[in-house]
Amino acid sequence: MSGFPEASFMLSAAAGAQFPADRGVEVAFAGRSNAGKSSAINAITARHGLARTSKTPGRTRLLNFFSLGPDRRIVDLPGYGFATGPREERAQWAPLIDALRPRESLKGLFLVVDCRRGIAASDLELIDWADPSRRKIHVLLSKADKLTRAEGLKAEAAAVAALGGRASVQLFSALRRIGIEDAQERLQGWIEAGDPRAVK
Ligand code: GDP
Repeated sequence: MSGFPEASFMLSAAAGAQFPADRGVEVAFAGRSNAGKSSAINAITARHGLARTSKTPGRTRLLNFFSLGPDRRIVDLPGYGFATGPREERAQWAPLIDALRPRESLKGLFLVVDCRRGIAASDLELIDWADPSRRKIHVLLSKADKLTRAEGLKAEAAAVAALGGRASVQLFSALRRIGIEDAQERLQGWIEAGDPRAVK
């Protein structure tokens, strides 16, 4: 497993009408601002700089779609710490993710959570939004290099407890390359599971 060599930027959407056709398989990446989401996307796809687009001024409030191959996509959600902030920012964010929610192709969510912060109320809200009864949810406890092994295991156990079975969890570090293969395999599994060509 060496990532997703075909990964490439598709488009930035400011409204549901601009989303790509609702076909195939899509996996969302979300997290509070600064959680390490862009670094995680770059590390998992092994396309360094891929998610830089999402940091381009003017695009940070948009939904950024990346192609992983024909009808296979990552959708990068805006960092949501700000969603509880200025009303106009929230007003822009909410309709966008409301438009994403009903998509048939949206099969799963990777939620990036700073391992030192743990699962916050806003993370649980996003999990509810994704609807764990319909979709797979996987939490990356990011920046695991900031913790000792013992602290990391403790953070993982706390996250498992906070999530109450709604999501799987793993420790992750883009910087020290912890858990990247596990994350790649999971993403690949979801992408293939949703691919009718993979069903024999
Ligand atoms: P985003 O806002 O969620 O997309 O987060 P970024 O990927 O831009 O990262 C936010 C900050 O966290 C940056 O300063 C990164 O260098 C840092 N960061 C990201 N991943 C890691 C990691 O695995 N370990 C450490 N120590 N820092 C990280």
